[in-house]
Amino acid sequence: MSQYWSPAVRELTPYVPGEQPREQLVKLNTNENPYPPAPGVGEALHDYAIDHLRLYPDPTSAALRGSLAETFQVASSQVFVGNGSDEVLALAFQAFFRHGAPLDVPSITYSFYPVYANLYGVELRKHPLNKQWEVDIDALTAETSRSGVIFANPNAPTGHAHSLEVIESLLTRVTDRVVLVDEAYVDFGAESAVALIDRYPNLLVTGTFSKSRSLAGLRLGYAVGSEELIDGLLRVKDSFNSYPVDSLASLVGIAALKDAEHFEACREHVITTRERTRQRLEALGFEVLPSKANFVLAQHPDYEGAQIFAGLRERGILVRHFNTPELNNFLRITIGTDDEMDSLIEALEVICG
Ligand code: PMP
Repeated sequence: MSQYWSPAVRELTPYVPGEQPREQLVKLNTNENPYPPAPGVGEALHDYAIDHLRLYPDPTSAALRGSLAETFQVASSQVFVGNGSDEVLALAFQAFFRHGAPLDVPSITYSFYPVYANLYGVELRKHPLNKQWEVDIDALTAETSRSGVIFANPNAPTGHAHSLEVIESLLTRVTDRVVLVDEAYVDFGAESAVALIDRYPNLLVTGTFSKSRSLAGLRLGYAVGSEELIDGLLRVKDSFNSYPVDSLASLVGIAALKDAEHFEACREHVITTRERTRQRLEALGFEVLPSKANFVLAQHPDYEGAQIFAGLRERGILVRHFNTPELNNFLRITIGTDDEMDSLIEALEVICG
């Protein structure tokens, strides 16, 4: 605590990102992609004219938004870009969720939402997952007065994804406030709600280049929604930082979007490895939640999550353990290369053998 901090800053509980270790570890803790970005990314970096760094980037990111619009078959005016989807989410909290009523959110979901809620003074109304560890759509929509609804699909850290039909049933029930669907992991097997934005002007879909495009270090995220919603985000962005996306990031993002083949191959590889990993974990006695993301959430009936986490760490393998009552016994394991997952399974055979 410091006397210099504004009172609200004293009340913050900042998000704690997963560890980025200095030593060489098998790193399965922050849902990064184990495969390199598209080859065109290297070429774009190589061809980048250093002299461009003298100039400010395009504040509207027109070229990148155009590429995303083409990818999603929407208009550029329906696309917003930011410095990682974390920033896009933060701007969305400011733009849409400050109506003086609670924001409906699953009790288990991306743990940055409560942090933004605290930062922007948004009250959360948390709804437990159902018995299958799925986002409970009926509970989320049970009340009539709210500032909005937010959840991740696939959800984090469970990996469960609802179908478009279920998302649409939510949208028919919540029409007066923004419904934000965070699709950070959608490319690993779920259906994108971008297909619904033309019919639901209150639907905002966010996404990221960090996972399926292997560009977590670049910091590039986006939102797709009605022009009305994108304008709301632009108003907040232009009251905060005119240039959240630098010229290098724009160029690299565009190069990544161009390579559909690389994108498909990487995500298919991750999906195949995920299913193989799930089977092998189950053979070791783990309960593994079905996942449509690039991670699985797993627990063992005979060993505590913290104990397995520590055993893996000793063997140079880093996974994610959440110290909360509901998730305490689970481990969230990012899907790495086949070799990395072999190392994981070998270590678990010793720890849980
Ligand atoms: N949403 C979810 C559900 C996530 O897990 C993450 C990654 N931690 C993000 C958004 C943010 O990703 P980024 O800022 O890298 O785009």
